Amino acid sequence: GTLIHATIKKQQLSKFQRLIVAGERRIFENFILTKATGRFRVTKHAYRMAVMNITSIIPCASLSDDMYLDLVDFERIHNDGTLTENILIDVIGQVVNLGEMKTHLRLDQRLSCTLWGTFAESIFDACANNGENKFICLLRFAKINSFKGERSISNAFEMSLLQIDPDLPAVLDFVGNLPKDGLALTVKARVPKVDKSKQKAEENRRHPIQTIANLLNYYEEGKFRVVATIYAIDIEFAWYYFVCLKCNKTAYKVPKVENDVVKKNKKTFFSCRGCPEIHTKVEPRYKLIVCVMDSTGQSKFVLFETDATSLTHQSSIQMLDGNYDEIQDPTKIPQPFLNLVGKTFQFVVSVEKDNIRDGSDTYKVAHVFLGLDDEINNVEEPSFGSYDLASIVSGDQ
Ligand SMILES: [Zn+2]
Repeated sequence: GTLIHATIKKQQLSKFQRLIVAGERRIFENFILTKATGRFRVTKHAYRMAVMNITSIIPCASLSDDMYLDLVDFERIHNDGTLTENILIDVIGQVVNLGEMKTHLRLDQRLSCTLWGTFAESIFDACANNGENKFICLLRFAKINSFKGERSISNAFEMSLLQIDPDLPAVLDFVGNLPKDGLALTVKARVPKVDKSKQKAEENRRHPIQTIANLLNYYEEGKFRVVATIYAIDIEFAWYYFVCLKCNKTAYKVPKVENDVVKKNKKTFFSCRGCPEIHTKVEPRYKLIVCVMDSTGQSKFVLFETDATSLTHQSSIQMLDGNYDEIQDPTKIPQPFLNLVGKTFQFVVSVEKDNIRDGSDTYKVAHVFLGLDDEINNVEEPSFGSYDLASIVSGDQ
């Protein structure tokens, strides 16, 4: 036997989910076979299966206990240029150093392994339970990554499977080959401090790249990277709003009473939904709408405080300079915004309910990468098919 990648569409999940149990065998009848492509191919199989509405899934007696592991040793990961990064692999390793989180095969052979979310939590738990003792990890469907010629592995979103000290022949073999006086587990820190901004940037880098045309035609919630050029600043609406510093909710200016004697320095009051009385404890926040384009189309992106600040090098507080109640001349666009026109950035935007249900072509920006990284010069042909990770529920046979 062997493994093949099978997908079930989100809409069909409720129908098929209960028919599939991890580790059990099923007979599939009537399904679609397509060529396996993309960056996250679960198996070496040249094709992948897609379940259709008319597919029948029938229980089947177990034929063997084989898990069809596709184990790749560290030597090959490091040195075998023919090993494609597009196909996920299985790796057995011993955790010897947490914090940098290295696994090793022999004393002289190590491999960096980056794990996210629940995968990382499992490792921390295993460390806590094992004390100084080493333990073995089996990471199935791991992604090979390269950075500056150095290869490492990571989990591939939620597709990977992590088992700690699994009772498998392959694992026993691995343990048997370990040096007897092997390294003790050196835990650098029980829970390593993570550089949040670095982690966020790295997570953002994992979103698939899309063109604007594809973004406009996408009807499921999700995040994508889009390389786009700002061609105008949209000033139809104010580029800022106010937040209450006490309750963190949006604050609105209290209109001044008409015929009121206009005094100089008269304070502007704000009301918000979280506080009982009007007050002045507010700060502005960016909500800057930029018009963007790429070779396929045009759209609008909304930038919030963090990203607008990193692009303009000025916070909204600095930009307004305390003039909270002056009516901004709508024809006068602040120079720091105009400086953005003509520049190209890599944005991470989210497709949300508004975009799907109401057809809004304005997308919220979750992150902006400053400076184009090399990947942009080497953008893969975008295709939702190969990145349709949300619909993948099973990578098993
Ligand atoms: Zn408030």
